[in-house]
Amino acid sequence: MKTNKSNLIRWSLLAALAAAGGAQAVGVTDAMIEGDVKSVNDVLSWGMGQQGQRFSPLTQINAKTVSRLVPAWSFSFGGEKQRGQESQPLIHDGRMFVTASYSRIYALDVKTGQKLWKYEHRLPEAIMPCCDVVNRGAALYDNLVIFATLDAQLVALDQKTGEVVWKEKIDDYKAGYSNTAAPLIAKGLLLTGVSGGEFGIVGRVEARNPRTGELVWMRPMVEGHMGYKYDKDGKQIENGITGTTNKTWPGELWKTGGAATWLGGTYDPTTGLAYFGTGNPAPWNSHLRPGDNLYSSSTVALDVETGQIKWHYQTTPHDGWDFDGVNEFVTFDMNGKRMGGKADRNGFFYVVDAKNGKLENAFPFVRKITWATSIDLKTGRPNYVQNSRPGDPTKGADGKKGESVFNAPSFLGGKNQMPMAYSPKTQMFYVPANEWGMEIWNEPISYKKGAAYLGAGFTIKPLHDDYIGALRAIDPKSGKIVWEAKNNAPLWGGVMTTAGDLVFYGTPEGFLKALDAKTGKELWKFQTGSGVVAPPITWQENGTQYVAVVSGWGGAVPLWGGEVAKRVNFLEQGGSVWVFKLSSI
Ligand code: CA
Ligand code: CA
Repeated sequence: MKTNKSNLIRWSLLAALAAAGGAQAVGVTDAMIEGDVKSVNDVLSWGMGQQGQRFSPLTQINAKTVSRLVPAWSFSFGGEKQRGQESQPLIHDGRMFVTASYSRIYALDVKTGQKLWKYEHRLPEAIMPCCDVVNRGAALYDNLVIFATLDAQLVALDQKTGEVVWKEKIDDYKAGYSNTAAPLIAKGLLLTGVSGGEFGIVGRVEARNPRTGELVWMRPMVEGHMGYKYDKDGKQIENGITGTTNKTWPGELWKTGGAATWLGGTYDPTTGLAYFGTGNPAPWNSHLRPGDNLYSSSTVALDVETGQIKWHYQTTPHDGWDFDGVNEFVTFDMNGKRMGGKADRNGFFYVVDAKNGKLENAFPFVRKITWATSIDLKTGRPNYVQNSRPGDPTKGADGKKGESVFNAPSFLGGKNQMPMAYSPKTQMFYVPANEWGMEIWNEPISYKKGAAYLGAGFTIKPLHDDYIGALRAIDPKSGKIVWEAKNNAPLWGGVMTTAGDLVFYGTPEGFLKALDAKTGKELWKFQTGSGVVAPPITWQENGTQYVAVVSGWGGAVPLWGGEVAKRVNFLEQGGSVWVFKLSSI
Protein backbone atom coordinates (compact mmCIF):
# COMPACT_ATOMS: atom_id res chain seq x y z
CA MET A 1 0.00 0.00 0.00
CA LYS A 2 1.26 3.47 -0.90
CA THR A 3 1.46 5.81 2.04
CA ASN A 4 1.99 9.53 2.34
CA LYS A 5 1.84 11.97 5.21
CA SER A 6 -1.85 12.93 4.85
CA ASN A 7 -2.84 9.28 4.61
CA LEU A 8 -0.91 8.47 7.78
CA ILE A 9 -2.60 11.30 9.65
CA ARG A 10 -5.99 10.12 8.39
CA TRP A 11 -5.32 6.53 9.44
CA SER A 12 -4.07 7.45 12.90
CA LEU A 13 -7.09 9.70 13.39
CA LEU A 14 -9.41 6.88 12.35
CA ALA A 15 -7.63 4.46 14.66
CA ALA A 16 -7.94 6.87 17.60
CA LEU A 17 -11.63 7.40 16.86
CA ALA A 18 -12.23 3.67 16.54
CA ALA A 19 -10.44 3.02 19.84
CA ALA A 20 -12.44 5.69 21.66
CA GLY A 21 -15.72 4.72 20.03
CA GLY A 22 -15.05 1.03 20.54
CA ALA A 23 -14.31 1.44 24.22
CA GLN A 24 -17.49 3.44 24.70
CA ALA A 25 -19.67 1.06 22.75
CA VAL A 26 -18.44 -2.12 24.41
CA GLY A 27 -17.96 -1.34 28.09
CA VAL A 28 -21.07 -2.07 30.17
CA THR A 29 -21.07 0.29 33.16
CA ASP A 30 -22.90 0.24 36.50
CA ALA A 31 -24.94 3.24 35.35
CA MET A 32 -26.01 1.35 32.24
CA ILE A 33 -27.03 -1.66 34.33
CA GLU A 34 -29.01 0.53 36.76
CA GLY A 35 -30.73 2.12 33.75
CA ASP A 36 -31.45 -1.18 32.01
CA VAL A 37 -35.25 -0.93 32.20
CA LYS A 38 -35.34 2.45 30.45
CA SER A 39 -32.68 1.71 27.81
CA VAL A 40 -34.83 -0.11 25.27
CA ASN A 41 -31.95 -0.87 22.87
CA ASP A 42 -30.36 -3.43 25.17
CA VAL A 43 -31.10 -6.12 27.77
CA LEU A 44 -28.16 -6.04 30.18
CA SER A 45 -29.43 -8.12 33.10
CA TRP A 46 -31.37 -11.21 34.06
CA GLY A 47 -34.82 -9.90 34.94
CA MET A 48 -34.65 -7.13 32.27
CA GLY A 49 -33.39 -4.83 35.03
CA GLN A 50 -31.83 -5.59 38.42
CA GLN A 51 -35.25 -5.39 40.11
CA GLY A 52 -36.47 -8.29 38.02
CA GLN A 53 -39.76 -6.73 36.96
CA ARG A 54 -39.42 -8.08 33.41
CA PHE A 55 -41.32 -5.03 32.18
CA SER A 56 -40.46 -3.19 28.96
CA PRO A 57 -41.64 0.35 28.12
CA LEU A 58 -41.79 -0.62 24.40
CA THR A 59 -45.17 -0.32 22.68
CA GLN A 60 -44.61 -1.06 18.96
CA ILE A 61 -45.81 -4.60 19.55
CA ASN A 62 -49.18 -4.16 21.24
CA ALA A 63 -52.68 -5.58 21.38
CA LYS A 64 -53.46 -4.17 17.93
CA THR A 65 -50.25 -5.16 16.14
CA VAL A 66 -49.24 -8.44 17.80
CA SER A 67 -51.12 -10.54 15.25
CA ARG A 68 -48.41 -9.48 12.74
CA LEU A 69 -45.58 -10.92 14.88
CA VAL A 70 -43.47 -13.29 12.76
CA PRO A 71 -40.06 -14.98 13.14
CA ALA A 72 -37.03 -12.86 12.19
CA TRP A 73 -34.50 -15.66 12.75
CA SER A 74 -33.85 -18.81 14.75
CA PHE A 75 -30.60 -20.37 15.94
CA SER A 76 -29.99 -23.98 17.00
CA PHE A 77 -27.67 -24.74 19.93
CA GLY A 78 -26.80 -27.95 18.05
CA GLY A 79 -24.86 -30.82 19.58
CA GLU A 80 -26.03 -34.25 20.63
CA LYS A 81 -26.96 -33.05 24.09
CA GLN A 82 -30.15 -31.05 24.50
CA ARG A 83 -32.27 -31.25 27.68
CA GLY A 84 -33.80 -28.25 29.48
CA GLN A 85 -33.11 -24.74 28.14
CA GLU A 86 -34.06 -22.23 30.85
CA SER A 87 -31.89 -19.33 29.68
CA GLN A 88 -32.75 -15.66 29.33
CA PRO A 89 -30.66 -14.01 26.55
CA LEU A 90 -28.87 -10.67 26.96
CA ILE A 91 -28.57 -8.01 24.22
CA HIS A 92 -25.72 -5.50 23.92
CA ASP A 93 -23.84 -3.72 21.16
CA GLY A 94 -25.25 -5.77 18.28
CA ARG A 95 -24.79 -9.10 20.02
CA MET A 96 -27.03 -11.59 21.75
CA PHE A 97 -25.43 -13.61 24.56
CA VAL A 98 -27.35 -16.77 25.34
CA THR A 99 -26.44 -19.74 27.53
CA ALA A 100 -27.59 -23.30 26.90
CA SER A 101 -27.73 -26.69 28.61
CA TYR A 102 -24.44 -28.36 29.66
CA SER A 103 -22.80 -24.99 30.50
CA ARG A 104 -22.58 -23.62 26.95
CA ILE A 105 -22.71 -19.97 25.91
CA TYR A 106 -23.12 -18.43 22.44
CA ALA A 107 -22.65 -14.93 21.02
CA LEU A 108 -24.91 -14.25 18.03
CA ASP A 109 -25.26 -11.37 15.61
CA VAL A 110 -28.48 -9.85 16.85
CA LYS A 111 -29.60 -8.78 13.36
CA THR A 112 -29.06 -12.07 11.55
CA GLY A 113 -28.72 -14.79 14.17
CA GLN A 114 -25.30 -15.67 12.78
CA LYS A 115 -23.02 -17.33 15.32
CA LEU A 116 -20.05 -15.14 16.32
CA TRP A 117 -18.50 -17.54 18.85
CA LYS A 118 -19.39 -20.27 21.30
CA TYR A 119 -17.82 -21.56 24.50
CA GLU A 120 -18.48 -25.09 25.74
CA HIS A 121 -17.35 -25.59 29.31
CA ARG A 122 -15.47 -28.86 29.83
CA LEU A 123 -17.60 -30.64 32.44
CA PRO A 124 -16.37 -33.52 34.59
CA GLU A 125 -18.51 -36.67 34.43
CA ALA A 126 -19.36 -36.64 38.12
CA ILE A 127 -21.32 -33.36 38.23
CA MET A 128 -24.47 -33.57 40.36
CA PRO A 129 -27.13 -31.13 39.19
CA CYS A 130 -30.33 -32.06 41.03
CA CYS A 131 -32.73 -30.72 38.45
CA ASP A 132 -31.39 -31.06 34.93
CA VAL A 133 -28.30 -29.65 33.22
CA VAL A 134 -29.76 -26.18 32.81
CA ASN A 135 -28.32 -22.67 32.81
CA ARG A 136 -30.46 -19.58 33.31
CA GLY A 137 -28.29 -16.86 31.80
CA ALA A 138 -25.22 -14.64 32.02
CA ALA A 139 -24.23 -11.20 33.32
CA LEU A 140 -22.52 -8.39 31.39
CA TYR A 141 -19.86 -6.11 32.86
CA ASP A 142 -17.40 -3.86 31.03
CA ASN A 143 -16.13 -5.96 28.09
CA LEU A 144 -17.01 -9.27 29.78
CA VAL A 145 -19.85 -11.77 29.71
CA ILE A 146 -19.87 -13.91 32.86
CA PHE A 147 -21.74 -17.14 33.57
CA ALA A 148 -21.74 -20.00 36.08
CA THR A 149 -21.28 -23.68 35.32
CA LEU A 150 -22.60 -27.05 36.46
CA ASP A 151 -19.25 -27.87 38.11
CA ALA A 152 -19.56 -24.75 40.31
CA GLN A 153 -17.22 -22.43 38.46
CA LEU A 154 -17.55 -18.89 37.15
CA VAL A 155 -16.25 -18.12 33.66
CA ALA A 156 -15.74 -14.60 32.28
CA LEU A 157 -15.28 -14.26 28.52
CA ASP A 158 -14.45 -11.37 26.23
CA GLN A 159 -17.72 -10.25 24.64
CA LYS A 160 -16.11 -9.79 21.22
CA THR A 161 -13.90 -12.85 20.93
CA GLY A 162 -15.26 -15.41 23.39
CA GLU A 163 -11.78 -15.81 24.90
CA VAL A 164 -11.70 -16.76 28.59
CA VAL A 165 -10.47 -13.75 30.60
CA TRP A 166 -10.82 -15.32 34.06
CA LYS A 167 -12.17 -18.50 35.62
CA GLU A 168 -12.83 -19.12 39.32
CA LYS A 169 -13.90 -22.22 41.23
CA ILE A 170 -16.80 -21.53 43.60
CA ASP A 171 -16.75 -24.89 45.38
CA ASP A 172 -16.33 -28.66 45.14
CA TYR A 173 -18.75 -30.25 42.64
CA LYS A 174 -17.95 -33.64 44.24
CA ALA A 175 -19.72 -32.41 47.39
CA GLY A 176 -22.82 -31.60 45.33
CA TYR A 177 -22.15 -27.95 44.56
CA SER A 178 -23.26 -26.70 41.15
CA ASN A 179 -24.45 -23.42 39.69
CA THR A 180 -27.21 -22.68 37.21
CA ALA A 181 -28.39 -19.12 37.99
CA ALA A 182 -27.50 -15.93 36.15
CA PRO A 183 -25.08 -13.79 38.19
CA LEU A 184 -26.29 -10.39 39.44
CA ILE A 185 -24.28 -7.18 39.03
CA ALA A 186 -24.88 -4.60 41.77
CA LYS A 187 -22.74 -1.59 42.73
CA GLY A 188 -19.80 -2.86 40.71
CA LEU A 189 -19.84 -6.31 42.29
CA LEU A 190 -20.68 -9.71 40.84
CA LEU A 191 -23.12 -11.49 43.17
CA THR A 192 -23.67 -15.23 42.91
CA GLY A 193 -25.23 -18.06 44.88
CA VAL A 194 -24.83 -21.84 44.82
CA SER A 195 -26.99 -24.87 43.97
CA GLY A 196 -26.92 -28.22 45.76
CA GLY A 197 -29.55 -28.10 48.52
CA GLU A 198 -30.44 -31.75 47.87
CA PHE A 199 -26.85 -32.76 48.76
CA GLY A 200 -26.38 -31.01 52.11
CA ILE A 201 -24.22 -28.18 50.81
CA VAL A 202 -24.17 -24.82 52.63
CA GLY A 203 -25.91 -22.03 50.73
CA ARG A 204 -24.19 -18.67 50.48
CA VAL A 205 -23.93 -15.42 48.58
CA GLU A 206 -20.56 -14.32 47.23
CA ALA A 207 -19.45 -10.93 45.92
CA ARG A 208 -16.55 -10.71 43.49
CA ASN A 209 -14.75 -8.11 41.45
CA PRO A 210 -16.39 -8.72 38.06
CA ARG A 211 -13.22 -7.70 36.18
CA THR A 212 -10.93 -10.20 37.94
CA GLY A 213 -13.09 -12.74 39.77
CA GLU A 214 -11.44 -11.86 43.11
CA LEU A 215 -13.61 -12.61 46.13
CA VAL A 216 -14.71 -9.47 48.05
CA TRP A 217 -17.09 -11.00 50.61
CA MET A 218 -18.95 -14.22 51.30
CA ARG A 219 -22.03 -14.70 53.49
CA PRO A 220 -23.36 -18.19 54.33
CA MET A 221 -27.13 -18.64 54.53
CA VAL A 222 -27.04 -21.25 57.30
CA GLU A 223 -26.71 -19.61 60.69
CA GLY A 224 -23.71 -20.87 62.61
CA HIS A 225 -21.40 -20.49 59.64
CA MET A 226 -19.59 -17.16 59.55
CA GLY A 227 -19.32 -14.63 56.75
CA TYR A 228 -16.09 -12.88 55.79
CA LYS A 229 -14.69 -9.94 53.88
CA TYR A 230 -11.46 -10.40 51.94
CA ASP A 231 -8.60 -8.11 51.07
CA LYS A 232 -6.96 -7.89 47.65
CA ASP A 233 -4.71 -10.86 48.38
CA GLY A 234 -7.69 -13.03 49.24
CA LYS A 235 -6.99 -12.91 53.00
CA GLN A 236 -9.87 -12.64 55.47
CA ILE A 237 -10.17 -9.15 56.89
CA GLU A 238 -10.01 -9.34 60.67
CA ASN A 239 -13.01 -7.16 61.48
CA GLY A 240 -14.93 -8.30 58.38
CA ILE A 241 -16.71 -11.18 60.09
CA THR A 242 -20.50 -11.38 60.16
CA GLY A 243 -22.92 -13.87 61.68
CA THR A 244 -23.80 -15.43 65.02
CA THR A 245 -24.55 -18.93 66.17
CA ASN A 246 -28.28 -19.39 66.40
CA LYS A 247 -30.58 -21.52 68.47
CA THR A 248 -32.64 -22.50 65.45
CA TRP A 249 -30.04 -25.16 64.65
CA PRO A 250 -29.63 -27.44 67.68
CA GLY A 251 -27.07 -30.21 67.30
CA GLU A 252 -24.76 -30.62 64.33
CA LEU A 253 -27.10 -30.43 61.36
CA TRP A 254 -26.29 -26.80 60.57
CA LYS A 255 -22.93 -28.05 59.24
CA THR A 256 -24.74 -29.52 56.21
CA GLY A 257 -27.80 -27.29 56.42
CA GLY A 258 -28.66 -26.59 52.77
CA ALA A 259 -30.41 -23.24 52.16
CA ALA A 260 -29.02 -23.14 48.63
CA THR A 261 -29.21 -19.76 46.89
CA TRP A 262 -29.76 -21.53 43.59
CA LEU A 263 -31.94 -19.01 41.75
CA GLY A 264 -29.64 -16.01 42.26
CA GLY A 265 -30.87 -12.59 43.36
CA THR A 266 -32.32 -9.20 42.53
CA TYR A 267 -31.15 -5.72 43.52
CA ASP A 268 -32.92 -2.43 44.21
CA PRO A 269 -30.82 0.74 43.82
CA THR A 270 -33.21 2.71 46.08
CA THR A 271 -32.56 0.40 49.06
CA GLY A 272 -28.98 -0.61 48.22
CA LEU A 273 -29.97 -4.17 49.11
CA ALA A 274 -29.61 -7.40 47.17
CA TYR A 275 -32.38 -9.95 47.71
CA PHE A 276 -31.54 -13.64 47.57
CA GLY A 277 -33.98 -16.48 48.15
CA THR A 278 -32.77 -19.53 50.06
CA GLY A 279 -33.75 -23.15 49.54
CA ASN A 280 -34.85 -25.93 51.87
CA PRO A 281 -32.96 -26.78 55.03
CA ALA A 282 -31.25 -30.15 54.63
CA PRO A 283 -32.27 -32.91 54.91
CA TRP A 284 -35.95 -32.81 53.92
CA ASN A 285 -36.81 -34.94 56.97
CA SER A 286 -37.63 -32.06 59.33
CA HIS A 287 -37.83 -34.21 62.48
CA LEU A 288 -34.01 -34.32 62.54
CA ARG A 289 -33.69 -30.54 62.87
CA PRO A 290 -36.20 -28.93 65.29
CA GLY A 291 -36.54 -25.12 65.17
CA ASP A 292 -36.82 -22.56 62.40
CA ASN A 293 -33.52 -23.48 60.70
CA LEU A 294 -32.44 -19.94 59.76
CA TYR A 295 -31.88 -18.71 57.08
CA SER A 296 -33.44 -21.52 55.05
CA SER A 297 -36.61 -21.06 52.96
CA SER A 298 -36.36 -17.28 53.32
CA THR A 299 -35.76 -14.04 51.48
CA VAL A 300 -32.48 -12.57 52.74
CA ALA A 301 -31.66 -8.88 52.14
CA LEU A 302 -27.93 -8.19 51.99
CA ASP A 303 -26.07 -4.89 52.12
CA VAL A 304 -24.18 -5.07 48.84
CA GLU A 305 -21.13 -3.25 50.15
CA THR A 306 -20.56 -5.22 53.35
CA GLY A 307 -22.30 -8.56 52.79
CA GLN A 308 -24.22 -8.09 56.04
CA ILE A 309 -27.73 -9.48 56.34
CA LYS A 310 -29.93 -6.42 56.87
CA TRP A 311 -33.13 -8.38 57.26
CA HIS A 312 -34.64 -11.76 56.52
CA TYR A 313 -38.17 -12.96 56.06
CA GLN A 314 -38.72 -16.69 56.41
CA THR A 315 -41.65 -17.90 54.32
CA THR A 316 -41.56 -21.53 55.54
CA PRO A 317 -40.04 -21.81 59.04
CA HIS A 318 -38.93 -25.41 59.75
CA ASP A 319 -39.63 -26.41 56.15
CA GLY A 320 -40.65 -30.06 55.93
CA TRP A 321 -41.92 -30.14 52.33
CA ASP A 322 -38.95 -28.91 50.24
CA PHE A 323 -40.74 -25.63 49.67
CA ASP A 324 -37.45 -23.79 49.30
CA GLY A 325 -37.84 -20.03 49.33
CA VAL A 326 -35.69 -19.22 46.36
CA ASN A 327 -38.34 -17.44 44.35
CA GLU A 328 -37.35 -14.03 43.06
CA PHE A 329 -38.09 -10.94 45.17
CA VAL A 330 -39.31 -8.28 42.73
CA THR A 331 -39.36 -4.71 44.05
CA PHE A 332 -42.14 -2.28 43.09
CA ASP A 333 -44.01 0.77 44.42
CA MET A 334 -47.22 0.24 46.40
CA ASN A 335 -49.07 2.71 48.65
CA GLY A 336 -46.13 5.10 48.36
CA LYS A 337 -43.67 2.53 49.69
CA ARG A 338 -40.97 0.38 48.13
CA MET A 339 -42.22 -3.19 48.39
CA GLY A 340 -41.08 -6.57 47.17
CA GLY A 341 -43.39 -9.22 45.75
CA LYS A 342 -42.63 -12.91 46.01
CA ALA A 343 -44.68 -15.87 44.76
CA ASP A 344 -43.28 -18.60 47.00
CA ARG A 345 -43.06 -22.29 46.22
CA ASN A 346 -45.30 -22.87 49.27
CA GLY A 347 -48.30 -21.36 47.41
CA PHE A 348 -48.50 -17.97 49.16
CA PHE A 349 -47.75 -14.60 47.58
CA TYR A 350 -45.94 -12.22 49.94
CA VAL A 351 -45.71 -8.42 49.82
CA VAL A 352 -42.84 -7.30 52.04
CA ASP A 353 -41.36 -3.86 52.77
CA ALA A 354 -38.14 -3.85 50.72
CA LYS A 355 -36.31 -1.66 53.24
CA ASN A 356 -36.98 -3.52 56.48
CA GLY A 357 -38.57 -6.88 55.63
CA LYS A 358 -41.87 -6.15 57.38
CA LEU A 359 -44.74 -8.22 56.02
CA GLU A 360 -47.43 -6.06 54.40
CA ASN A 361 -49.69 -8.67 52.79
CA ALA A 362 -49.78 -12.43 52.17
CA PHE A 363 -52.38 -14.44 50.27
CA PRO A 364 -52.63 -17.66 48.25
CA PHE A 365 -51.89 -17.53 44.52
CA VAL A 366 -52.80 -21.19 43.99
CA ARG A 367 -56.27 -22.66 44.59
CA LYS A 368 -55.25 -25.48 46.90
CA ILE A 369 -52.93 -25.13 49.90
CA THR A 370 -53.17 -27.84 52.55
CA TRP A 371 -50.15 -27.26 54.83
CA ALA A 372 -51.24 -23.84 56.22
CA THR A 373 -54.57 -22.03 56.38
CA SER A 374 -53.09 -18.53 56.08
CA ILE A 375 -50.18 -16.31 57.03
CA ASP A 376 -50.47 -14.35 60.28
CA LEU A 377 -49.92 -10.75 59.13
CA LYS A 378 -48.80 -9.69 62.62
CA THR A 379 -46.14 -12.34 63.27
CA GLY A 380 -45.45 -13.15 59.62
CA ARG A 381 -45.64 -16.85 60.42
CA PRO A 382 -47.81 -19.48 58.74
CA ASN A 383 -50.84 -20.89 60.53
CA TYR A 384 -49.92 -24.56 60.07
CA VAL A 385 -52.52 -27.25 59.50
CA GLN A 386 -52.06 -29.97 62.09
CA ASN A 387 -50.84 -33.31 60.74
CA SER A 388 -49.82 -31.80 57.40
CA ARG A 389 -46.15 -32.43 58.18
CA PRO A 390 -44.89 -35.85 56.99
CA GLY A 391 -44.41 -38.08 60.03
CA ASP A 392 -41.28 -38.94 61.99
CA PRO A 393 -39.82 -42.21 60.61
CA THR A 394 -38.55 -43.23 64.04
CA LYS A 395 -42.19 -43.33 65.15
CA GLY A 396 -43.33 -45.37 62.11
CA ALA A 397 -44.33 -49.01 62.48
CA ASP A 398 -40.93 -50.37 61.33
CA GLY A 399 -38.82 -47.28 62.05
CA LYS A 400 -38.06 -46.93 58.33
CA LYS A 401 -40.96 -44.91 57.02
CA GLY A 402 -42.90 -42.16 58.73
CA GLU A 403 -46.58 -41.47 58.18
CA SER A 404 -47.27 -40.38 54.60
CA VAL A 405 -49.34 -37.24 54.05
CA PHE A 406 -50.96 -35.68 51.02
CA ASN A 407 -49.90 -32.08 50.58
CA ALA A 408 -50.58 -29.27 48.14
CA PRO A 409 -48.76 -27.63 46.53
CA SER A 410 -46.22 -30.31 45.62
CA PHE A 411 -42.55 -29.64 46.31
CA LEU A 412 -42.18 -28.47 42.70
CA GLY A 413 -44.17 -25.56 44.02
CA GLY A 414 -47.01 -23.15 43.36
CA LYS A 415 -44.24 -21.51 41.37
CA ASN A 416 -40.72 -22.74 40.74
CA GLN A 417 -37.70 -21.28 38.88
CA MET A 418 -39.77 -19.56 36.19
CA PRO A 419 -39.71 -15.83 36.93
CA MET A 420 -42.89 -13.73 37.14
CA ALA A 421 -43.33 -10.20 35.76
CA TYR A 422 -44.72 -6.95 37.18
CA SER A 423 -46.28 -4.14 35.16
CA PRO A 424 -46.14 -0.67 36.78
CA LYS A 425 -48.79 0.26 34.19
CA THR A 426 -51.44 -2.30 35.19
CA GLN A 427 -49.98 -2.62 38.73
CA MET A 428 -50.36 -6.37 38.49
CA PHE A 429 -48.00 -9.31 38.85
CA TYR A 430 -48.15 -12.01 36.18
CA VAL A 431 -47.38 -15.29 37.88
CA PRO A 432 -46.74 -18.65 36.18
CA ALA A 433 -48.45 -20.91 38.73
CA ASN A 434 -49.03 -24.67 38.96
CA GLU A 435 -51.74 -26.69 40.70
CA TRP A 436 -50.45 -30.03 41.93
CA GLY A 437 -50.06 -32.04 45.11
CA MET A 438 -47.87 -34.82 46.47
CA GLU A 439 -47.78 -37.83 48.69
CA ILE A 440 -44.72 -37.28 50.90
CA TRP A 441 -43.15 -39.32 53.69
CA ASN A 442 -39.91 -39.23 55.69
CA GLU A 443 -37.21 -41.86 55.94
CA PRO A 444 -34.06 -42.15 58.06
CA ILE A 445 -31.03 -40.43 56.52
CA SER A 446 -27.47 -39.52 57.41
CA TYR A 447 -25.12 -37.17 55.58
CA LYS A 448 -22.64 -38.63 53.11
CA LYS A 449 -20.56 -36.31 50.94
CA GLY A 450 -21.81 -36.25 47.38
CA ALA A 451 -24.93 -38.33 48.03
CA ALA A 452 -28.57 -37.20 47.92
CA TYR A 453 -29.53 -35.97 51.39
CA LEU A 454 -33.31 -36.00 51.51
CA GLY A 455 -34.68 -38.50 54.00
CA ALA A 456 -37.95 -38.39 52.14
CA GLY A 457 -39.95 -40.17 49.46
CA PHE A 458 -42.68 -38.65 47.33
CA THR A 459 -45.02 -38.87 44.35
CA ILE A 460 -46.29 -35.76 42.62
CA LYS A 461 -49.90 -35.85 41.44
CA PRO A 462 -52.03 -33.56 39.28
CA LEU A 463 -55.10 -32.09 40.99
CA HIS A 464 -57.17 -31.59 37.83
CA ASP A 465 -57.67 -33.50 34.58
CA ASP A 466 -57.68 -30.48 32.31
CA TYR A 467 -54.81 -28.34 33.62
CA ILE A 468 -51.80 -28.03 35.90
CA GLY A 469 -50.39 -24.66 34.82
CA ALA A 470 -52.19 -21.32 35.17
CA LEU A 471 -50.78 -17.93 34.26
CA ARG A 472 -52.38 -15.56 36.76
CA ALA A 473 -52.70 -11.80 36.90
CA ILE A 474 -52.52 -10.89 40.57
CA ASP A 475 -53.33 -7.58 42.27
CA PRO A 476 -50.80 -7.28 45.14
CA LYS A 477 -53.05 -4.84 47.06
CA SER A 478 -56.23 -6.91 47.16
CA GLY A 479 -54.62 -10.32 46.79
CA LYS A 480 -57.18 -11.14 44.10
CA ILE A 481 -56.56 -13.22 41.01
CA VAL A 482 -57.81 -10.81 38.31
CA TRP A 483 -57.63 -13.30 35.45
CA GLU A 484 -56.03 -16.61 34.64
CA ALA A 485 -55.05 -18.60 31.56
CA LYS A 486 -54.99 -22.35 32.24
CA ASN A 487 -52.47 -24.68 30.62
CA ASN A 488 -52.55 -28.45 30.38
CA ALA A 489 -48.85 -29.01 31.19
CA PRO A 490 -47.18 -27.37 34.18
CA LEU A 491 -45.85 -23.90 33.33
CA TRP A 492 -42.06 -23.82 33.61
CA GLY A 493 -40.98 -20.75 31.54
CA GLY A 494 -40.93 -17.16 32.74
CA VAL A 495 -43.09 -14.16 31.95
CA MET A 496 -42.54 -10.72 30.41
CA THR A 497 -44.94 -7.78 30.26
CA THR A 498 -44.77 -4.58 28.18
CA ALA A 499 -46.20 -1.07 28.04
CA GLY A 500 -47.96 -2.36 24.93
CA ASP A 501 -50.24 -4.06 27.51
CA LEU A 502 -49.09 -7.52 26.57
CA VAL A 503 -47.97 -10.50 28.62
CA PHE A 504 -45.62 -12.98 26.91
CA TYR A 505 -44.93 -16.49 28.21
CA GLY A 506 -44.05 -19.91 26.89
CA THR A 507 -45.57 -23.35 27.45
CA PRO A 508 -44.07 -26.87 27.61
CA GLU A 509 -46.33 -27.66 24.64
CA GLY A 510 -43.99 -25.40 22.63
CA PHE A 511 -45.96 -22.19 22.24
CA LEU A 512 -44.79 -18.67 22.89
CA LYS A 513 -48.00 -16.75 23.63
CA ALA A 514 -49.04 -13.12 23.95
CA LEU A 515 -52.05 -12.26 26.12
CA ASP A 516 -53.85 -8.99 26.76
CA ALA A 517 -52.36 -7.76 30.07
CA LYS A 518 -55.71 -6.39 31.27
CA THR A 519 -58.01 -9.27 30.35
CA GLY A 520 -55.85 -12.35 29.76
CA LYS A 521 -57.33 -12.81 26.28
CA GLU A 522 -54.98 -14.78 24.02
CA LEU A 523 -53.95 -12.57 21.10
CA TRP A 524 -51.07 -14.49 19.46
CA LYS A 525 -49.13 -17.73 19.64
CA PHE A 526 -46.27 -19.40 17.81
CA GLN A 527 -45.08 -23.02 17.92
CA THR A 528 -41.31 -23.08 18.61
CA GLY A 529 -40.79 -26.80 17.98
CA SER A 530 -39.96 -27.84 21.56
CA GLY A 531 -41.17 -26.93 25.04
CA VAL A 532 -40.52 -23.41 26.33
CA VAL A 533 -39.15 -23.35 29.90
CA ALA A 534 -37.34 -19.98 29.64
CA PRO A 535 -38.37 -16.32 30.04
CA PRO A 536 -38.88 -14.08 26.95
CA ILE A 537 -37.20 -10.70 26.41
CA THR A 538 -37.80 -7.68 24.20
CA TRP A 539 -35.65 -4.81 22.88
CA GLN A 540 -35.50 -2.31 20.04
CA GLU A 541 -32.94 -2.13 17.23
CA ASN A 542 -33.00 0.68 14.63
CA GLY A 543 -36.60 1.50 15.49
CA THR A 544 -37.84 -2.10 15.29
CA GLN A 545 -39.06 -3.95 18.40
CA TYR A 546 -37.95 -7.57 18.74
CA VAL A 547 -39.04 -10.39 21.04
CA ALA A 548 -36.86 -13.42 21.79
CA VAL A 549 -37.28 -16.67 23.69
CA VAL A 550 -35.26 -19.85 24.11
CA SER A 551 -36.99 -23.16 23.35
CA GLY A 552 -36.03 -26.62 24.65
CA TRP A 553 -38.11 -28.87 26.93
CA GLY A 554 -36.62 -30.20 30.16
CA GLY A 555 -35.91 -29.03 33.71
CA ALA A 556 -37.11 -30.58 36.94
CA VAL A 557 -40.58 -31.77 35.86
CA PRO A 558 -39.53 -34.74 33.65
CA LEU A 559 -36.99 -35.80 36.32
CA TRP A 560 -39.00 -35.40 39.53
CA GLY A 561 -42.60 -35.10 38.37
CA GLY A 562 -43.97 -38.58 39.27
CA GLU A 563 -47.45 -38.95 37.78
CA VAL A 564 -47.14 -35.49 36.22
CA ALA A 565 -43.99 -36.56 34.35
CA LYS A 566 -45.97 -39.40 32.79
CA ARG A 567 -48.55 -36.90 31.57
CA VAL A 568 -45.95 -34.80 29.73
CA ASN A 569 -43.62 -37.57 28.49
CA PHE A 570 -44.74 -37.03 24.86
CA LEU A 571 -42.98 -33.65 24.73
CA GLU A 572 -39.81 -33.49 22.61
CA GLN A 573 -36.46 -31.99 23.59
CA GLY A 574 -34.79 -29.20 21.65
CA GLY A 575 -32.41 -26.28 21.93
CA SER A 576 -32.82 -23.06 19.99
CA VAL A 577 -33.45 -19.36 20.31
CA TRP A 578 -36.26 -17.67 18.38
CA VAL A 579 -36.44 -13.96 17.52
CA PHE A 580 -39.63 -12.22 16.34
CA LYS A 581 -40.62 -8.84 14.86
CA LEU A 582 -43.71 -7.37 13.24
CA SER A 583 -44.19 -8.16 9.54
CA SER A 584 -44.48 -5.03 7.40
CA ILE A 585 -47.77 -6.12 5.85
CA1 CA B 1 -32.09 -2.06 28.64
CA1 CA C 1 -34.89 -28.02 47.35
